[in-house]
This record gives sequence, C-alpha cells and structure tokens, in this order.
Amino acid sequence: MSNQNSIDVYNVYSKYLKERFGEKVYKLPISLPLTCPNRDGCVGTGGCIYCGEEGGSFENLSNTLSVKEQAEKNKDYIQIRYKANKFISYFQNFTNTYLPIDDFKRYVEESIVDRVVGISISTRPDCINDEYLEYLDYIKKRYDLEITIELGLQTVNYHTLKKINRGHTLAEFLDAVIRNKRYGIRTCAHLILNLPWDDMDDTIENAKILSALGVEEVKLHGLYILDKTELGNMYKSGEISIISKEEYKERVIKFLEYLDEEIVVQRIIGRAPEENSLFVNWNESWWKIRDEIVSDMEKRQTRQGIKCDYLNGKALKNKKYI
Ligand code: SF4
Repeated sequence: MSNQNSIDVYNVYSKYLKERFGEKVYKLPISLPLTCPNRDGCVGTGGCIYCGEEGGSFENLSNTLSVKEQAEKNKDYIQIRYKANKFISYFQNFTNTYLPIDDFKRYVEESIVDRVVGISISTRPDCINDEYLEYLDYIKKRYDLEITIELGLQTVNYHTLKKINRGHTLAEFLDAVIRNKRYGIRTCAHLILNLPWDDMDDTIENAKILSALGVEEVKLHGLYILDKTELGNMYKSGEISIISKEEYKERVIKFLEYLDEEIVVQRIIGRAPEENSLFVNWNESWWKIRDEIVSDMEKRQTRQGIKCDYLNGKALKNKKYI
C-alpha cells in the first residue's frame, strides 16, 4: 500500500490498480504444493543461497486447502477487513509454472473465483514457455483478466547471479520478458538492490535494462538473511557484509531516477519475517524506510524517470552535425 506522498515521486502500484479497475484491488495469496527446479536437481540442488524452505514467501494459507478454498477464504477475510470488492489471485510461493501443464490449468481456473479481475503468477525466468503462455493468453481473453508473470531476476549482473546460485543467467530473463510480451502478458521483475556483490553501477544497469525491455512492473526487495542458509553462513563468518540503510536508500533513489516513468513500481522495499533471520531491513519497519526514501526524493525534487534519457538513440538527441 502506498502513502499519499509517494504518488508524485514514483509510479505507485495501488494507484495504477485504482485507475485500471476503478477501485482498490487486493491480492489473494495462493500456495501450491510445489518445489523449485533450483532445489530438486533439475537446474540445481542447493537453491539460491538465501532461500529458506518456504520458497520466498511467508504469508500464505496452508497448501493443503484447495486453490478454490484458499482464494475464497482469503477473499472473505480481505473483503470484510478492507471493504474490498476486486481481487487478484496471487500464486506467490516457489515456482508456480514448474508443474505439469494440466495441473497448472486446473489451479489457474480454480483461482478465478467471483470478482477476481487478474491473476499474478510468480516464477523463474527459466520456467516460462509458449505452451503456458498460450494457455494464459486464452484465459486472459476468455475471462477478461489482467495476467502478470512475476519473474525473479534479483540482478542483471550475471556474475552476481552465479554467486547467488540462481541457476539461470540474464539471457533467460530477457527471453521470458520478450515471450510474455508476444502474448500480451505483463511482466513484474523482482530485484534485490543490496546484494553484497553489486554496486551502484549494477543498480543503474538494473533500471536501464528493465526500461529498455519495457517491463510493465517492478518489485524491489531488501536482502534478508536467514539462519541455516548458505548466505547466513557467509554473513556469520564475515565473508559478506551488507550496505548501510543510507546506501540502500541511495540505490533505490538512483534506480527510480533511471527507471522509465511508465513502469509501475509495486514495492521499493519488501516485508520479511523476523523469525530465524540474521538480518532484516536494518531492524526497521519496511514502511518507515519506504517513507524516508519518498521524503528524501521530495526534498531533492527528484522522481522516477528523471534520468531516463538513454533510450531511442541517446547520441542522436540534440546532435548538431557540422
Ligand atoms: S528460485 Fe525461489 S524457490 Fe527456487 S531456490 Fe531460488 S528463491 Fe528458492
């Protein structure tokens, strides 16, 4: 959820949803009994070095309930609590396209309960192909839904991707985004701006590549470090360190300045569980850090896209031939 001030400094997701659907829209988290190809041996076994066993999320109902039950139960709760009327079914945990196509179809159709206006599906860039996208294109048209694929990228720096053991490089992400576009499916890219191997140049390149590709949405997370993970061991042994909160804020601001103003920003810092964690958001509330970033941007009179001057032949702009 955004605060009011943030409307001016970046393209806030809740505002986008309100304009697109005419009112506030809420997500219904849905959890499937899945694993991930980076954990089960398909592309890797250990998983990403920061991954806990919950597969990247901690807010879902049990996946022993059917998809329909989860959607209805979450909807009942959210509509009473927030007087909500429109919803997006959100397949959040693990890799939601890493399952047989017929199972995938069944789950997606079960999630289209009354007053669902969109579906959001979290997955890896190496788990998207034409078969799944053709089906989603059909569903989009049949039920008049907005469909978004959330792709975990984390960074465009392919050296860092190797260090965090993502099991894919930048190329798979580029392929997935281009493929999504062919089917009119939106892409939301997930990034972590404070990976220990990345610097400000990587931050800027993250924004430039997402802008050049024309992804529709982006979600930023701070790195959180769980105990009993490889990253946790590196942190405890002093092999890695985390940048300061001030530096994180600078990176977010720089990222937004270079990001095309059309790209919708879902989050500029993530929520994270404190349980079993060694490091989470400098021990501060995510919303407090978000508000500080917004306030800093307002003071500096800067905003998303102010430095996005590099597309469409930068060298030809204002060029005077002699
Ligand atoms: S892709 Fe996601 S679920 Fe798979 S290992 Fe990485 S963080 Fe965990």
